[in-house]
Amino acid sequence: MLNIYICQQYCIIYIMKVWIDQDLCTGDGLCEEIAPDVFVGLDDGLFYVKEGDKIFSEENGNVGGAEGLAIVPKGQEEAVVESAEECPGECIMIEP
Ligand code: SF4
Repeated sequence: MLNIYICQQYCIIYIMKVWIDQDLCTGDGLCEEIAPDVFVGLDDGLFYVKEGDKIFSEENGNVGGAEGLAIVPKGQEEAVVESAEECPGECIMIEP
């Protein structure tokens, strides 16, 4: 499903969302190097998506994996796409 937001001036803004399949994450941290505003590593050695201070992991009281979709901040879209392309685990999932 396409995530769109229609503003008051009737412009259409596309919202990119992203999640990580932690079952496939190698823990190398490449995603956080490329897009530190979106990805973060935790003490379990795996990486998670975040929205500001909210980290999508059970350790932080939130759902992770496919249930934990984070909205990509404006201007971070290219970095997230690059992270997904470079991810050795092929586990960064972008939802258009
Ligand atoms: S780049 Fe992929 S495999 Fe590497 S830490 Fe990030 S999500 Fe995990």
